[in-house]
Amino acid sequence: MKWQKYSLLMVMSLFLIMACGGEEQPDDKDIINPQVTVKPVSIPSFDAENAYNMVAKQVAFGPRLPNTKEHQATSKWLVEQFNLYGAKVIQQDFIAKRYDGVNLKSKNIIASFNTDNSDRILLCAHWDTRHVADHDPDKSRYNEPILGADDGGSGVGVLLEIARILGQDSSFKHGVDIVLFDSEDHGAPSGTQGGSESWCLGSQHWSKAPHVANYKAKFGILLDMVGSKSPRFTKEGTSMQYAPTVMNKVWDIASSLGYGAFFDPTTTSAITDDHYFVNTLIGIPTIDIINKDLSTQSNFGQHWHTHKDNMDVIGKGTLKAVGQVVLTVLYKED
Ligand SMILES: [Zn+2]
Repeated sequence: MKWQKYSLLMVMSLFLIMACGGEEQPDDKDIINPQVTVKPVSIPSFDAENAYNMVAKQVAFGPRLPNTKEHQATSKWLVEQFNLYGAKVIQQDFIAKRYDGVNLKSKNIIASFNTDNSDRILLCAHWDTRHVADHDPDKSRYNEPILGADDGGSGVGVLLEIARILGQDSSFKHGVDIVLFDSEDHGAPSGTQGGSESWCLGSQHWSKAPHVANYKAKFGILLDMVGSKSPRFTKEGTSMQYAPTVMNKVWDIASSLGYGAFFDPTTTSAITDDHYFVNTLIGIPTIDIINKDLSTQSNFGQHWHTHKDNMDVIGKGTLKAVGQVVLTVLYKED
């Protein structure tokens, strides 16, 4: 649905036509007073319950590490879900070299809507989870992979629910590509060799070799750690450097929807996340909606890269806020 201007008479006649079960047939001659306008906002409601269940489903598979059967089963399920929602799905298989030389059998999953429309918006998240709990206070569990309910699961859960909504709305015409990056979270632990380029291997691969040649999108939104209770999404520095207009637009929409308590307008330090490579390698202005908990040493919250990153940290109110904001951004572009 689009934002449209109707005269009062037009709205009344539309109501009468709809009440009679007829087709909407706007007619210019009905517009007698263009000053009297209303804006019917037909943005669907984002269902946080569904999104929550989608996060829980991922977590139920166990840690989603490349080279494991849990990873394979999760990717199969993700592809099935997107197919169910009517998306055009592309699986992009590649081998990513981890910082310690391990070859990761990786898969980016791309779900596209309205592929005939050249006006496109990119939405992304990472679907893999971290192989070590390098920030867990219990060092005896360092080598156990984490469940990643928030770190990975939450962004994917929100995007699956958005895909479900887009798939059932034939009036939505804008092009949307949902890209789930793999092998984001296998970077070198701090204090070891590797550096920032050892992270985000799926987005680096896709940005150099997108799923379609000469891929372009007006802008992109990355969701990373968007599920924890009482989050603080700030205007993160890399996003502000490469895509300030997008950032301001999204934060303004969040504020207008009453989610200002979660979407803090403070600019915070730049991070390297998947959006950095999308911005620098393929040139799509892309922001990162990411929780920045400045009260913790990591800035990413107490549960970040620990075994506490399970369903207990996920808040439906947060999923609702992020999902409704992103959905509103999409429908305002349509
Ligand atoms: Zn992570």
